This record gives sequence, structure tokens and C-alpha cells, in this order.
Amino acid sequence: MTKTNLLDFDAQHLTAWFAEHGEKPFRARQVLRWIHKAGEPDFDAMSDLAASLRTKLKETACVEAPRVVREELSEDGTHKWLLDVGTGNAVETVFIPEESRGTLCVSTQAGCALDCAFCSTGKQGFNRNLGVAEIIGQLWLANREIGRDVDGNWPVSNVVLMGMGEPLLNFDNSVSALRLMLDDHAYGLSRRRVTVSTSGIVPAMDRLREECPVALAVSLHAPDDALRNVLVPVNQKYPLRELLAACQRYLEKAPRDFITFEYVMLEGVNDSARQARELVALVRDVPCKFNLIPFNPFPQTRYRRSGSEAVRRFRDILMEADIVVTTRRTRGGDIAAACGQLAGQVQDKSRRTLRLQEVRA
Ligand code: SAH
Ligand code: SF4
Repeated sequence: MTKTNLLDFDAQHLTAWFAEHGEKPFRARQVLRWIHKAGEPDFDAMSDLAASLRTKLKETACVEAPRVVREELSEDGTHKWLLDVGTGNAVETVFIPEESRGTLCVSTQAGCALDCAFCSTGKQGFNRNLGVAEIIGQLWLANREIGRDVDGNWPVSNVVLMGMGEPLLNFDNSVSALRLMLDDHAYGLSRRRVTVSTSGIVPAMDRLREECPVALAVSLHAPDDALRNVLVPVNQKYPLRELLAACQRYLEKAPRDFITFEYVMLEGVNDSARQARELVALVRDVPCKFNLIPFNPFPQTRYRRSGSEAVRRFRDILMEADIVVTTRRTRGGDIAAACGQLAGQVQDKSRRTLRLQEVRA
């Protein structure tokens, strides 16, 4: 009999599964706390459960995160894990330590169907959606791998669904994982410390607002539809006007009073002063912050990173219009853990499978 992986359940699903097995809801809550709060995979160690329940759980269930096939540590402290998610697929998780917080960048799909022009995950194509255990398992694993600090706190204080894949195209599983991140019996993170990044799947943004409003980042990358159609092809389905209207609707329920717009700076493509001014006009009615991301190159890309002078000029035009702008430092570049590089070493399927085989051998 295959065992049920309890990492696949948010609180509601775990309670339902316990009920099916004749167990009370408070038992589900206890187990949830052991698994996520204590990081404990071993039912025998769950000391406040009746021995009979522990035996039953051992027979029918397990707590299993994806297997780590490789781990890399950057000079700047950025930590990257390559995780086996079966059938030759691998995804990556990146932990970025900062002075006052630790951010985990989590993947939601193996590959991505949306094929943004500048993204190596997109170049890989779509393999499959990750399950809840594979998504929340990244957080569970990162906490355990790094371990608690001297005050007994887990290292991950912030989560961004900004790794491989489009979270809103794996909606149900991403939302179950988000609920666990927010649940006081699991990770207890505030909604403001959990961010979904989307390329702009308009109907799913509306659903997220209703079902699980967390902080929202939208990958904008262009000030007009003609260019965005090329850079972010899903724009052909959900053009800018609809996307910005969805951002405004989202703000009605959002935990933060702004949307973060991500904008990857591509030399000679989207980084001119004229485009900065167009951008100011475009977002006039949406309370927002901008995050200017240095383009991270990968093999076979024809794009180049904008020069620092172009980035400064672009930033100044936004700031003069009273928009808050952060220019992201690139982190983990030496281990290909920076934005959009995550699939860099796994993009070729045959090569990837080969490497997984090497690791297993
Ligand atoms: N699919 C979602 C989330 C994953 S991508 C989205 O598109 O928002 C996370 C961020 O990395 C996005 O803003 C994306 O545009 C950016 N990104 C992708 N490729 C990149 C690259 N090569 N260099 C820098 N940022 C990149
Ligand atoms: Fe997919 Fe995001 Fe990459 Fe676009 S940028 S291909 S949506 S992962």
C-alpha cells in the first residue's frame, strides 16, 4: 500500500483525512504542529500522540519532502538546493539570507509553459505542476537543512513564490501551500511576508484575492502591449489594461497597500528614458513599487543586462514621479541561483536526466 504523504495536506485537508480515519480534528492540529512547527517527520517522536495513533500513522502515512540531489552555497551566503521531483525532473529552491530576514524563493512548477523571452525556465518548456508536498516541502526542507538560530527561530522569515514556474497556473496546490505558510499551527508567517509573483494571469489574480490574499508581485517588464506581447507572451491573452485593472481590484484585499512591479532591465529593449516615462503614465492609477531586476544571462540568450547608467536614468525617472524603486542586487550569481537562472543547469532534458542518474548511481 502506498502511504499518504501528510505534507500534501493543508489544515483543512489534514482534518478531513483524520476524520476519514476516525480521528478528531484536534489530533490533526497536533500532527500539523509536529510536522511543520517542529519540523518532525518521525511519528514515533510525536510524544503527545497516543501510541495507537502513532502506530496507525506509521502504517498508513509518511512525511516526505522532495529529495535533495545537489546543494550549493554561494560566497554571499545564498543557498541553493536542486530537488528531484521524479521522472527526470528537477526544481530549485533558493535561500537568501539578509541582515533582518531570510527569504526563501520557492518553485511551483517543473518548467513553465509561458515562455517569456528572457527566462531560462520558460526555455525549458512545461513539465508538470508540483504537488503541495513538493511546494511546502521546499520550506520544510530549507528550515531543517539550515536549522534554527540561537533564539530558536527557523531561518526562513519570508517566502516568495518566484522560483521556477507560474504559481497561478498551479493554483490549488500553490494556495494549499500558502495556507500552510500562514497557518499558526504550521509556519505562522504574516500575509505581508509571503509573496506570489505572477506574469499576470488575470482571472487567477481575482481568485487569489478572494481565497488567499498575500502580497502580490506582477512581472511587468514593458510599458506597452506591443513589447510585452513579445517579452511576456501571455500578455496577448491578458493585455496591460486588463492586468492593471486586476491589480487595482487586488489591492482592495491585499495585505500591503501596493503592488510590486518587477521589471527586468534588458539593454536596448525596455530600458530607455522614453519607456520609463511611458511606464509612469501607465501605472498612474495603481499604488505600486518597482523592483528593477538586473537581467541574469543564461546560455543561448540574445539579451544583455542594461548598463548601470541606463538603470540609474530609468530609476530616476520613476522616482521623480514619486514611485518607490528598489534596484535588486543580484544574489547567488556564482551558483546560478539568481532570478531566471534557476533552470540553467537542468534545462536540457536529456542532460538533466543524465545528471540525476549520475547522482543516484
Ligand atoms: N512565473 C512567475 C514567477 C517566477 S519568475 C513570474 O513570471 O512572475 C520570477 C521573476 O524572475 C519574474 O519577475 C521573472 O520575470 C524574473 N526573471 C525571469 N528570467 C529572468 C532573468 N533571466 N533575469 C532576471 N530576472 C528574470
Ligand atoms: Fe514562466 Fe515566470 Fe519564466 Fe515567464 S518569467 S517563463 S511566467 S517562470
